[in-house]
Amino acid sequence: MVEKLTSIEGPMFSGKTLEMIRFADAFTVGGHQVQIFKPAMDDRGEGSNQIKSRLFGRWDATPIDQPEELLNKLRKGVDVVMIDEIQFLNQTNPDGVYKIVEVVDKLLDTDIKVVISGLPRDFRRQPFGPMAELLARAQDKVVLKAVCDEIIEDGTKCQQLATETQRYVDGEPADWNDPVVLVGDKMEGYAARCIKHHVVRNKPIK
Ligand SMILES: [Zn+2]
Repeated sequence: MVEKLTSIEGPMFSGKTLEMIRFADAFTVGGHQVQIFKPAMDDRGEGSNQIKSRLFGRWDATPIDQPEELLNKLRKGVDVVMIDEIQFLNQTNPDGVYKIVEVVDKLLDTDIKVVISGLPRDFRRQPFGPMAELLARAQDKVVLKAVCDEIIEDGTKCQQLATETQRYVDGEPADWNDPVVLVGDKMEGYAARCIKHHVVRNKPIK
């Protein structure tokens, strides 16, 4: 098998996990040995040992805290590695290189096919962790979109294709300076938005 990196990118609610499950099913039917990994912090799915689509379908997934754990937990004979929500594996080595990028390179060097899935941009519309580097390496790209459900002036929904992830804090569009992990009892929520309706309050003007 020729080494190959496939990326699945899109905002929240665009069906990235569903697409990953579809790939996993197809590779398995084709006789490949698939193992899915996910950041331990992503707790969707029943228990922490699965990935689960919001629509349907689930697959066993190996949770990892650190990128290098992937190599230790890789089962013998696996020839397709999939990594869900990879933007959260954002640890860097002292040179500032993302560790997960090094791990993906190692897998590709050993002729293991890799499929990654993640959010390309964060709520500030900035590159999310290792995603920019990983997307640049991918030879095969799946770009997913959701649908913007912002209520517009006439009371209907926008319905344009949504490429961005809108973050809300206590019901208001998030501020540029809001921490990625909230402290205290603030409530946060997310929605998929078209570029026109994506709001970042107090974004610095360059
Ligand atoms: Zn919109």
